[in-house]
Amino acid sequence: MKTKLHFLLLVLPYIVLAQLKSPSEFLGYELGTQFTRHHQVVDYYEYLAQSEPQRMKLMEYGKTNERRSLLLATISSKSNMENLEQIRAEHLKGMNGEGTSNKAIVWLSYNVHGNESVSTEASMQTIYDLLTIKSDYLEDIVVLIDPCINPDGRDRYVNWYNQYKNTPHQVDPNSKEHHEGWWSGRSNHYMFDLNRDWAWLTQVESQQRLVQFNKWLPHVHVDFHEQGVDNPYYFAPAAEPFHEVVTDFQREFQRTIGKNHAKYFDENGWFYFTKEVFDLLYPSYGDTYPTYNGGVGMTYEQGGSGQAGLGIITAIGDTLTLKDRILHHHTTGLSTIEVASKNITKLNDEFKNFYAEKDYTYKSYILNGNPDKLEALTKLLDQHEIMYNAGEDATIKGYSYNTAKTGSLKSSKNSIVIPSNQPKSTLVKVLFEPIAKLSDSVTYDITAWSLPYAYGLDALASENTVKGTRITQDTNDYRSITPNSYAYLTDWNSMKDARFLAELLRKNIRVRFTHKPFTLDGIAYERGTLIITKSDNKNIKDFNGILKNAAISHKKEITATNTGFVESGKDFGSSYVDVIQNLNIAVLSGKPTSTLRFGEIWNFFEQQLNYPVAILDEEYFHKVDLSRYDVLILPDGRGYNSFLNKHIKEKIKDWVKDGGKLIAMAGAIDKLSSDKEFTIKEKETKKDTTINLESFEVSEREQIKSAITGAIFKASVDNTNPLAYGYSDTYFTLKLGDRSYNYLENGSAVYLSEGANEPVSGFAGSDAKNKIAETLIYGTQQLGKGQVIYMIDNPLFRGFWENGKLFFANALFMVH
Ligand SMILES: [Zn+2]
Repeated sequence: MKTKLHFLLLVLPYIVLAQLKSPSEFLGYELGTQFTRHHQVVDYYEYLAQSEPQRMKLMEYGKTNERRSLLLATISSKSNMENLEQIRAEHLKGMNGEGTSNKAIVWLSYNVHGNESVSTEASMQTIYDLLTIKSDYLEDIVVLIDPCINPDGRDRYVNWYNQYKNTPHQVDPNSKEHHEGWWSGRSNHYMFDLNRDWAWLTQVESQQRLVQFNKWLPHVHVDFHEQGVDNPYYFAPAAEPFHEVVTDFQREFQRTIGKNHAKYFDENGWFYFTKEVFDLLYPSYGDTYPTYNGGVGMTYEQGGSGQAGLGIITAIGDTLTLKDRILHHHTTGLSTIEVASKNITKLNDEFKNFYAEKDYTYKSYILNGNPDKLEALTKLLDQHEIMYNAGEDATIKGYSYNTAKTGSLKSSKNSIVIPSNQPKSTLVKVLFEPIAKLSDSVTYDITAWSLPYAYGLDALASENTVKGTRITQDTNDYRSITPNSYAYLTDWNSMKDARFLAELLRKNIRVRFTHKPFTLDGIAYERGTLIITKSDNKNIKDFNGILKNAAISHKKEITATNTGFVESGKDFGSSYVDVIQNLNIAVLSGKPTSTLRFGEIWNFFEQQLNYPVAILDEEYFHKVDLSRYDVLILPDGRGYNSFLNKHIKEKIKDWVKDGGKLIAMAGAIDKLSSDKEFTIKEKETKKDTTINLESFEVSEREQIKSAITGAIFKASVDNTNPLAYGYSDTYFTLKLGDRSYNYLENGSAVYLSEGANEPVSGFAGSDAKNKIAETLIYGTQQLGKGQVIYMIDNPLFRGFWENGKLFFANALFMVH
């Protein structure tokens, strides 16, 4: 009751003071008594922008997958808004130690997790107050508000809730309106967690937002979240571990802001906690990414999320309402701006200090490798506005990523050199350094992500500044399509190649590939080389035109040849040259699987490979005629015990034996491995049976011994296995746990060899290291006429491990 009164007291005076309509007046219901659908949020922001043209600008910076608007509101005083471009330019000059900016930039991001549904509601009250009773804060501050980073997820939740809620709403936690189910609103359309995507930019929301973010590089950034219903509010300062690049000022200012919030929370008797759970290490969050770009980035967490609805009884018997939740996020939002308004000079000075030249150990990162992979990396660098150059002919010494010790690398004009001395030097260090320094604390996210490993590049970190030259544009016109050639050849070693193949298959071009290396016209071709013959495609109208257009749009070099008679190896008519089938592919969705792991596969097909996939939900899977499909994918998940009952397992096995191809990932393998027809078997590890007599506190720390939350290991590759075509004999894998399976007879494509259980980057506990020693990572098994492909590690994790994706393409197209 107390909080309700407080809320009304906050709202009522504005109605009298200002002509501008409050959210409640505009929406026609009191804010907090309904969830506001996204189009209504858009309407309110548009209404504000139209009513306050001198103090507010609203832009649509993009669209989501489901075509909802992504909005950014800019508000400040009238005179600031008149000089907005100048303010922005002056602020950015701070990156070069110049400029005389005397304004602070504060960016508030709401609802990155769609079902953490209070945030967008709170944003409306916050912007309204900033334009009315709190407008004095805007004298020296430009506030940027993204009312909803993830509109697709939010509307998924809100629409679901509106359909299932009781009238009036039911506070009993057992009622349906508090149980959202598997297809929750947390993630975006493709079930990606957008709060893990700031650095990798795999999703359209992140890509479009970052363009705007880089235009402003705010002094302060807040990412509004929700956590479990029973948790008190969480705000800064963050928990350890902090990445070592976080500056003293950034730490100190988190404290300053936290103390100001605490003042308001103490006054109202609200519970809160700080310095726990939410750390500052993994670079792809809404708090760390802005921090590594010179701002003070923070996560605020209200209790509630998709479970809380309009009101719910908590564990201690209180009722938590949406109004309470709005009030708390509204309070911290305004308190953040209040603190910024009192520290304008400090924020500007420290922004300059952050961007002043840093004396990081590594002065240059030099990268060699497959041009497609280098191209994929430079695309990411461009999005982050990280500068890079072409290399010069030289031999460079430094830390070799490949051997994890001092070594050398030959650079050439094809190398990429990334200087550490550039405005984005801190971001460069965080994303590229071989090993991120870990303080003695537990993080719940991955502890390694170094991009040279993720992109499969040969790299060296040098303590000296390595010279480079500006990169000239690629002018190749890929015109090597000579009509009426006998065949065309092209290499197979990157996702770009897989996309090219997928396009040809979609256009019904028949493509072959070789299982054996061969030499033709003096050129050596590796396993997996694509062979596109004239005679295979004699019935395709405009075969040459289709091939040429595909080559141009994918920037693929293709080589024409007038004979299929090879100089060494197997001729094109040999049984070692296979036809790649146009495939009907299905992926399982629903409760057996994890939403995130399922989403990565869905996104891979539609946004990366551009190849169709059917989604078969577990609810009706038993009725589906599998003979329509060539490939079935079982994503990782924890629900396979009940799903893979005898009947379903037999159904899948029969289909494989008839020639189907099953791709089983992580959690799905755990269940299949108990069946003797699947040859994959769990590695037996001697269990430590000694009873632990440590104190409770110590024993909690002991658990870390069995932890791998995400570390990089150097694996061995049998690249004569079709699952590994296009790879060299080593591969750096991101391990996310200690799942351990024995090698497969004749089918171990990627595995940890003896002694390879020490991570090259990231943390692995001692027990976990023992457990994963000499275990399988990716492998294949023949079953009847079909194939089973096992994926213990996840090559599609968060969509950012670029070098793993070809394994998935190989599983689809090369394993026969
Ligand atoms: Zn969240």
